Amino acid sequence: MANYDYDLFVIGAGSGGVRAARTAAATGARVAVAEDRYLGGTCVNVGCVPKKLYSYAAHFHDAFEDSHGFGWTIPASPQFDWATLRDNKIEEIKRLNGIYGRLLDGAGVKLINGRAKVVDTNAVEVNGERITAEKILVAVGGWPWTPEFEGSELTVNSNQVFDLDSFPRRFLVLGGGYIAVEFASIFNGLGADTHLIYRGELFLRGFDQEVREFTRDEMAKKGVNLHFETNIERIRQVEGGLEVTLTNGDRLEVDAVLAATGRRPHLEGLGLEALGVQLDTDGTLKVNERFESSVPSILALGDVTGGPELTPVALAEAMHLVQHHFGDKTPPPLDYENIATAVFCHPNIGTVGLSEEEARARFDAIRVYSADFRPMKHTLSGSDERCLMKLVVDDASDRVVGAHMVGDEAGETIQGIAIAVRARLTKADFDVTVGIHPTAAEEFVTMRSVTRR
Ligand code: NDP
Repeated sequence: MANYDYDLFVIGAGSGGVRAARTAAATGARVAVAEDRYLGGTCVNVGCVPKKLYSYAAHFHDAFEDSHGFGWTIPASPQFDWATLRDNKIEEIKRLNGIYGRLLDGAGVKLINGRAKVVDTNAVEVNGERITAEKILVAVGGWPWTPEFEGSELTVNSNQVFDLDSFPRRFLVLGGGYIAVEFASIFNGLGADTHLIYRGELFLRGFDQEVREFTRDEMAKKGVNLHFETNIERIRQVEGGLEVTLTNGDRLEVDAVLAATGRRPHLEGLGLEALGVQLDTDGTLKVNERFESSVPSILALGDVTGGPELTPVALAEAMHLVQHHFGDKTPPPLDYENIATAVFCHPNIGTVGLSEEEARARFDAIRVYSADFRPMKHTLSGSDERCLMKLVVDDASDRVVGAHMVGDEAGETIQGIAIAVRARLTKADFDVTVGIHPTAAEEFVTMRSVTRR
């Protein structure tokens, strides 16, 4: 061990890389991190954090409208200034970048500014210098991917959309995943005339069908123009905007097009092919339970490995990886079941466990409890926004195997429910839990009649 420069060399200072570096350093390991872009990776710079800030900004739209029924008059119609939001966001991210730098520094991790290349099983090259390490961790994350079509170079991706020079009054999103529905909601809320184009029958493939349909209806009510079963054929620059022609023949003129068509591992130029590191068919890095690639001294975690592309998953993987490689006890394998997730479309989706469709496939008999109601706030606000809550129960064991919500702060609500689902609690446990009144969340412990079996 002593003849290497470091015990662990981490490539990429995103959520997973930083957590692994700090946690390994805390065990006494000598750790370095190379990063050629920004500290904190996608989540902090062009993902979760700025997205949530923009989502807050967009929610004000509803708040202004909802306030009238509660007695508020707003003297002039509220005006939104894109540059203020964007520039305040930039300042906040700079502050977070600084915190990440100090965290690494405080942990005794050497931070190297540059793109590292793996040149041997135990060596990297960065800024022309060869550095050796007993273990190399590839935590380089993913990168937005855009399909090629005529004019695809006129689109922006999710790295670029936060920093547009001016606010697009007419906005179009291509895709039907997390990023597409979130940004359609954000730009719609900020006041843009917004279109979402999705090639399939209904967006959010893989989510509970009822959740998808409910979200479709709520987003449409809020004014997002949804175009399903079509795709972009071409985009042309025209006077005053972009002309987008769809495969169904429709034509739209907009100011910006966001391609939210998925992300790919960011492995170019990393030198892994030369070492014969095995990839999965989708181009992600294949790792075992110990996060080792086919070359055991080269480890990987996070988005680059093709698991759920979520910050808390990368953090959990980092803690696990460090226990495996620098701890004194072998941890049990990381459990990827029942990972709760939220989609910050408006209204938000929060979900944990199995969809109704997955539960039907897995169990002999299930019970579904669902409630679709008008939240109390909207009795006075006049808004027609509704809320969906749903529990999926395995009939034989009475276990709650899935919980879903579409509504205000669904992510906040589902986080608590996720503990119960993970702890394998039964519907009877939910039923004996006394609710908190008046909340929307109490519905999760008061649903008594089976909606369907
Ligand atoms: P997703 O993989 O979730 O969605 C990509 C979308 O693009 C799908 O709807 C897909 O359609 C569509 N698509 C793919 N290829 C084409 C094509 N050639 N033409 C037209 N449409 C296409 O990726 P995202 O970019 O939305 O997000 C990446 C990941 O980041 C997510 O999966 C999620 O894990 C993570 N994320 C998490 C967030 C959160 O936790 N709130 C927020 C944002 C991102 P189809 O369904 O038909 O394949």
